[in-house]
Amino acid sequence: MSNTNQKNIALISVHGDPAIEIGKEEAGGQNVYVRHVGEALAKLGWQVDMFTRKASAEQASIVEHSPNCRTIRLTAGPEEFVPRDNIFGYASEFVEEFLKFQQQSGVQYPVVHTNYWISSWVGMQLKKIQPIKQVHTYHSLGAVKYKAVTTVPLIATTRLNVEKAVLETAERIVATSPQEKEHMRSLVSTKGNIDIIPCGTDIHRFGSIQQQQARQQLGIAPEAKVVFYVGRFDKRKGIETLVRAVGKSRLRGNGELKLIIGGGSRPGQSDGIERDRIEDIVAELGMSDFTSFPGRLGDEILPMYYAAADVCVVPSHYEPFGLVAIEAMASGTPVVASDVGGLQFTVVPEESGLLAPPKDEVAFAAAIDRILSDSAYRNKLGQAARKRVEAKFSWDGVAKQLSELYTQLLQEKPTALDDKTAAVSA
Ligand code: UDP
Repeated sequence: MSNTNQKNIALISVHGDPAIEIGKEEAGGQNVYVRHVGEALAKLGWQVDMFTRKASAEQASIVEHSPNCRTIRLTAGPEEFVPRDNIFGYASEFVEEFLKFQQQSGVQYPVVHTNYWISSWVGMQLKKIQPIKQVHTYHSLGAVKYKAVTTVPLIATTRLNVEKAVLETAERIVATSPQEKEHMRSLVSTKGNIDIIPCGTDIHRFGSIQQQQARQQLGIAPEAKVVFYVGRFDKRKGIETLVRAVGKSRLRGNGELKLIIGGGSRPGQSDGIERDRIEDIVAELGMSDFTSFPGRLGDEILPMYYAAADVCVVPSHYEPFGLVAIEAMASGTPVVASDVGGLQFTVVPEESGLLAPPKDEVAFAAAIDRILSDSAYRNKLGQAARKRVEAKFSWDGVAKQLSELYTQLLQEKPTALDDKTAAVSA
């Protein structure tokens, strides 16, 4: 393989389109991760192509983000939204389209970084066909997810098999937190190579605006006590716990308490069952007068909301990493989060925020009240939070670690084509 080729990298994210608007339907942390890793790698000199599935006929097939970084949408299955549990059926078509793209462009990627289990299967198939080093990030582990749900989807067995196979055969697995690595080891397999490289955030975009300035722009009173959530409307995000906790707050009724639940579609647009369910709970608890649902928060406005908040709450039942926590911390806003997964890594209790047991609305209420009722404590946590993100979770720092990993893998001798590839079929 020629030297010029060696700097090419394919990031594969079959269901998480890095070029799409974040916060809607199934777009969340994975999309953000792939997009930012891609752009930061391009700045480090990589030629980055991010492959995803085309989910609408109107979408451009190629989107250029920067001179060396683009999103390439392959047609695999119908050009319409397909829920992620149903996408695996189109994974082999995705492999074929990927190979066709390589042939047409004359580029053969020596390294692919796959994201989520569906893409990991694509990576494993490519390894059967050409010499490729595979790096994989799970974003979510079936073994953890299915422990917590009552109805296990049909695809579960396949997913668990694929997740085990990729752990055992990829050149490297990237765990985004020590907690995620521990889950891989205890629930998936003791074999395979795992490095810990966290997710990152844009420390320039978040943290560049002061609280009062942000409040002025958003029309929030200077003396308000603002509790903020942002993310997808999904039951596992635990928004209900947040609402019930704020409903129990000691500060309720003093006229200053404000709850902002961001994410999803614009107000008035239907956003599926979970949004309706949460709005019903808010109404039932008589909290409508101090709760707002501003809908999806775009790139420009999101940093202002984080800055305006007194506390950001991440009440997820489980979170392998949890980008929202570090975005808030980067903005100098302390976090109250569930004591689970990657949140145990990002949020240091009493230092950059507080942790509470998942689904425990009483514990969440106590933690939220502690921060809201003591602004000196709030500011101390916020400042330490910002410092922690600067030191550990900047995209540039994360991309540098990934770049070193890819470079190291490329220097290792190629793996034989079929001695390490796994046999799980689509
Ligand atoms: N997000 C956003 N606008 C919204 C809702 C979410 O930009 O209205 C972004 C949020 O800032 C974060 C990502 O979506 O970067 C969610 O990632 P996280 O890891 O917290 O959760 P996931 O969606 O992956 O479960």
